[in-house]
Amino acid sequence: MDRKERLFIDGEWIESESDAQIESRNPVDPGEVVAHVSMATSAEAKQAVKTAASASDSWASWSSHERGDVLREAATIVDDRKEEIAELIVREMGKTISAARGEVQRGIDLFDYYSQIARDYGGIKRPSADSNTLAYTEREPLGVVAAITPWNFPFAIPAWKIAPALVSGNTVAFKPASLTPATGAAITRCLVDAGLPDGVLNFVPGSGSDVGTVLTEHPDVDAISFTGSTDVGCSVQQTASGEGKRVQCEMGGKNPIVVDPSADLELAVDLTVGGAFGLAGQACTATSRAIVFEEIYDEYLKMLVDAVEELRVGDPLDPATDMGPKASADNLDKDLTYIEAGRDQGATVVAGGSRIDDDEHDNGHFIEPTVLADVTSEMTVAQEEIFGPVISVLSVEDYEEAIDVANDVKYGLSASICTNRLDHAKSFASDVDVGVVKVNQTSTGVEYQLPFGGKKQSSSETFKEQGRQAIDFYTHEKAVYITH
Ligand code: NAP
Repeated sequence: MDRKERLFIDGEWIESESDAQIESRNPVDPGEVVAHVSMATSAEAKQAVKTAASASDSWASWSSHERGDVLREAATIVDDRKEEIAELIVREMGKTISAARGEVQRGIDLFDYYSQIARDYGGIKRPSADSNTLAYTEREPLGVVAAITPWNFPFAIPAWKIAPALVSGNTVAFKPASLTPATGAAITRCLVDAGLPDGVLNFVPGSGSDVGTVLTEHPDVDAISFTGSTDVGCSVQQTASGEGKRVQCEMGGKNPIVVDPSADLELAVDLTVGGAFGLAGQACTATSRAIVFEEIYDEYLKMLVDAVEELRVGDPLDPATDMGPKASADNLDKDLTYIEAGRDQGATVVAGGSRIDDDEHDNGHFIEPTVLADVTSEMTVAQEEIFGPVISVLSVEDYEEAIDVANDVKYGLSASICTNRLDHAKSFASDVDVGVVKVNQTSTGVEYQLPFGGKKQSSSETFKEQGRQAIDFYTHEKAVYITH
């Protein structure tokens, strides 16, 4: 039976006044409705902001330790519900069950981490020039934060926004992606059940153009933390910063792996396959370009194609599956359109390239993991974010050309190099114009205790997410001088 989920405003789960519902569907079998979720109207989104604003002073008056205690309790609750939430993620957006379990564990870790940060995120004290003056800083919450999130990490991304927002004393209006609203309800419920006071967290599923616009424009929203596509993020940033709000947008990527001749080619292929196909390419940090020195290009390509042809695409609840479906029909069509554009512009499809619609895969949004060879940097498939299991392989002569090609995109999120040369590893970290650099690792996967964010059109480049640095976004740091 499908789940029924509602809005959560001012401490109550309520039906929307409109009859409109989001039908969240299983990408393995789109005939299956996973959840019916009430859609907030504009008026209800405004009510959520009003409620969050009213709860703001009282929540800010709790000590940060007390706020951290709520998060610690939420971590325990998520742990108790881990399997149920992981299965919900799989059924809403199709990542494999092991990836979904990992995502829920990341949520637990983030709640736990920020419950600790709550104990020592305060300001700094510095000696004053005047011996009778006490000079220090203190951090204050901003007020109401809007969290607008995408569908590809429907639990972890809300967790890494909401946890630091709450511990630093802000109240929150949370809009999940319309593809994964039930997972958004699940994370809200864990926090509410952990003892958040009424009004501190408000859950408003609904359309981006409607609820998202209200949150972006509302005068009582003090800050917006957005993750999603570059097009939407740039427009959110423009509108919200024009209204004087603090804004943080983390957006798309076109992430390379560079493979030089010193690399262990088996490792290089493993890293490419993991980064490009692990989440069916639906990660902002997914590897979508392999930039390979020409002397090893043929050998690498053959090994890559062999490995890709071994991948098992199918039911993401089956632990033997390597790659699940695309999250929606639109996403699948977009991948196929890009593959066609690659062909038209001279790329060669050397693995995959088509939708999978045999008996086993039935009506699901399945696509073959795809390798495009003979790609050059000006081609559309080397420039635009595909957000699917499609890797473009490009040949370069040397390190300098590899860096030129790696940086020759509008995005700057993550980049990886596979090498056994220390000089290449070290230079790459400086030369590549991205926010996250990996050496002998996949371009995907980051640790929560480090700051995360991109450069160029992958990010507003205003503040970082995760790590202690997240607190900078969610607080004002005030300088205080007390002369006595
Ligand atoms: P999206 O279409 O931009 O949507 C992101 C969120 O914005 C959703 O909640 C969406 O609501 C909402 N939205 C849509 N239009 C809006 C508007 N006019 N005003 C305010 N909010 C609006 O992105 P997506 O398809 O969900 O996610 C995939 C993208 O996210 C990819 O580009 C990926 O690279 C990026 N991403 C980036 C990171 C990162 O940290 N850099 C992490 C994960 C994903 P609806 O769902 O209702 O449309």
